[in-house]
Amino acid sequence: NEGVLSSSAAIEDSNLDLTLRPKRFNDFIGQDRIKENLHIYIKAAKKRGEPIDHVLFSGPPGLGKTTLSQIIASETNTAIRTTSGPILDKPADLAGILTNLQQGEILFIDEIHRLNTNVEEYLYSAMEDFSIDIIIDQGQKARSVKINLQRFTLIGATTREGLLTAPLRSRFGVLEKLEFYPWEDLYKIVCNSARKLAIPIEVKGAEAIAKRSRGTPRIANRFLRRIRDVAQVLGEDGKDVIDEKIALRGLEMLGVDENGLCEMDRKILQTVVKSGGGPIGLKTIAVSVNEQEDTIEEVYESFLIQRGYLEKTPRGRIATKQTYEHLGVHKQMPAQK
Ligand code: ADP
Repeated sequence: NEGVLSSSAAIEDSNLDLTLRPKRFNDFIGQDRIKENLHIYIKAAKKRGEPIDHVLFSGPPGLGKTTLSQIIASETNTAIRTTSGPILDKPADLAGILTNLQQGEILFIDEIHRLNTNVEEYLYSAMEDFSIDIIIDQGQKARSVKINLQRFTLIGATTREGLLTAPLRSRFGVLEKLEFYPWEDLYKIVCNSARKLAIPIEVKGAEAIAKRSRGTPRIANRFLRRIRDVAQVLGEDGKDVIDEKIALRGLEMLGVDENGLCEMDRKILQTVVKSGGGPIGLKTIAVSVNEQEDTIEEVYESFLIQRGYLEKTPRGRIATKQTYEHLGVHKQMPAQK
């Protein structure tokens, strides 16, 4: 049963995320500029005896936004409360959380671009003045009461910085954008994870995984685990080591090609090429590949654009020379009349 399989795989993945999540800056590989900045902000805030300023992390999924937020909490010795934009349905939900925050605590809001407008507006005064107005009583007796909050730090995470409203964005003192990781960083992450999970792996095997993990630690960790299964079943002479051969075999079984593109990436590119190379709208692509527009933008396109397989123009997406080369098709020139 596919459904059962995939949901148990999802649970395994999230458990894996928890096991492998770095707890301190020292274990967090790469993103050096961001780490240095955060280090300074934390040190300065400590010196002043104040909580750090509100922080916004943006970037594609799986790059370490949640991990960094938790590291900030442990480095500053503070508690972190976690929620997400879509969960906070009503202002009262947010008010409940805010009024329970202690001095210096961190409120982490994942997918902050998906906050309801009325909840978001509520957050403005909380972030700026550390106070909120709540309405008590109903009907004619209804009146607004101002409640002071403890000084807290809001950390927001978003995969779609462009969707954040200007007033919300402007209330963050620290804005950090996470970039896809170079394969050398992913190589270190794969080796560390293999060590933590006691998975035997060779240098070439770790390199193969690192080079095809879409610049994303979460994907590198997931591939590592799936390829361990392959090694255990298909390893020669009963050895379960991930060498280069096993890694490449496993990646192929996962549908990942030599440039690290997956089945969905190729479908998207093929759709653009079939349309004559674009420009083609996101909606049309979404219908053609049977995937949600949001997911295409956040998960697939961001990587394809970064790697030069796709260009985004105001009129739609267009294929690049590299797209044609990768798919092994020749660009059709417009028919001569
Ligand atoms: P996001 O919140 O951006 O979606 P997460 O913080 O949940 O991403 O990261 C996903 C997983 O990837 C984490 O559990 C962790 O194991 C791993 N990870 C992310 N960034 C790093 C890093 N820089 N070094 C080591 N592991 C990382």
